[in-house]
Amino acid sequence: MSNVVVLGSGIVGLYTAWCLIHYANISPTKINVIAEFLPGDTSIKFTSPWAGGNFSCISPNDPDTLAYDKFTYTHLKDIKQALGQECGLDMRPSTEFWDVYPGDEKINSLKSYLKDFKVVPKSKLPEGVAYGITFTTWNFYCPFFISKLRAHLEKLGVQFKRQKLTHISQAYIPHTLAVFNCTGIGAVSLSGVKDTNVYPTRGQVLVVKAPHIQENKMRWGADFATYIIPRPNSGGQLILGGFLQKDNWTTDTFEEESKDIIERTTKLLPKILDKPIEVLGVAAGLRPSRYGNARIEAEIIEDRLLIHNYGAGGYGYQAGFGMSHKAVELFIQNKKLSSKL
Ligand SMILES: Cc1cc2nc3c(=O)[nH]c(=O)nc-3n(C[C@H](O)[C@H](O)[C@H](O)COP(=O)(O)OP(=O)(O)OC[C@H]3O[C@@H](n4cnc5c(N)ncnc54)[C@H](O)[C@@H]3O)c2cc1C
Repeated sequence: MSNVVVLGSGIVGLYTAWCLIHYANISPTKINVIAEFLPGDTSIKFTSPWAGGNFSCISPNDPDTLAYDKFTYTHLKDIKQALGQECGLDMRPSTEFWDVYPGDEKINSLKSYLKDFKVVPKSKLPEGVAYGITFTTWNFYCPFFISKLRAHLEKLGVQFKRQKLTHISQAYIPHTLAVFNCTGIGAVSLSGVKDTNVYPTRGQVLVVKAPHIQENKMRWGADFATYIIPRPNSGGQLILGGFLQKDNWTTDTFEEESKDIIERTTKLLPKILDKPIEVLGVAAGLRPSRYGNARIEAEIIEDRLLIHNYGAGGYGYQAGFGMSHKAVELFIQNKKLSSKL
């Protein structure tokens, strides 16, 4: 019993493979990543390529998620160091505005670790904004970053296999010590899991070329989210968003939503229009949201160890490293039991 299987090759599965190597001392050659979609693919059933993506204040205020965010923010430098300078992960300045104060739990937590954290004086807040902060954050060029992370893991010896499973039990290849379930939105339909608490939160984004914008700017409204996110090492790509549409499985993109995004983002950061911008693409993605937030849980099913690590909603990049660290801690606690089964 020496193989470990990671089911899912999105950002959460990749962070899990990383954590198995670095925190559980598992040999990379014993790690098998199985997934229907791999970095480099695009599908509406594969959320990770569509993320904005940055570290923002989108995640909920419960103590677990705040801890996952903090772990990720403070440990991403290790991944950057391993992947090299041009890996689609870098730091950029950020400003976040809320129409409703986000709560002391969130602000006190962020203030304890965010680089260059400052509260925006009331006199400098735009109309309708109740609270604002500035800080230095992590930015991802998501499709590029996950491809780099996969290539790094593969070079260490991690094996990647393309396979669609219909039941979680199919993940138990011979001599499997444990399976990590990192299936994202796939957790809704995979037999043996079929988590009815998981639902999509649809987003639509525009990818534009605007190398003159190298800062993040976000505004969280009661029923909308407006965000501007530069992609590092992308030749000047900028993500403009967006929407947080709960329970919307629509995979299409809509012209009126794109117009609305352009209107809101250029109002929030008028200097986007200082130079001509080129629209490179429009995309929709389904965030794997979950009632009760992410599921990081160990189960023994029919004498087999299964560790769930999914439900990252709109924060898989910014909290997923912490989620995966927790999932790997559960593995360490349970593996002795598993190897005796
Ligand atoms: C528009 C948008 C903007 C976003 N912006 C940000 C952001 O700025 N910052 C941030 O942190 N997050 C952001 N997110 C959220 C982030 O993208 C997700 O939280 C994250 O990608 C989820 O990763 P995951 O690995 O759990 O799922 P996925 O990336 O969907 O990966 C799931 C994996 O499981 C595999 N799988 C599923 N079912 C099966 C099966 N039955 N058999 C085999 N394989 C299976 C899939 O093929 C895939 O490999 C955004 C999302 C969207 C849509």
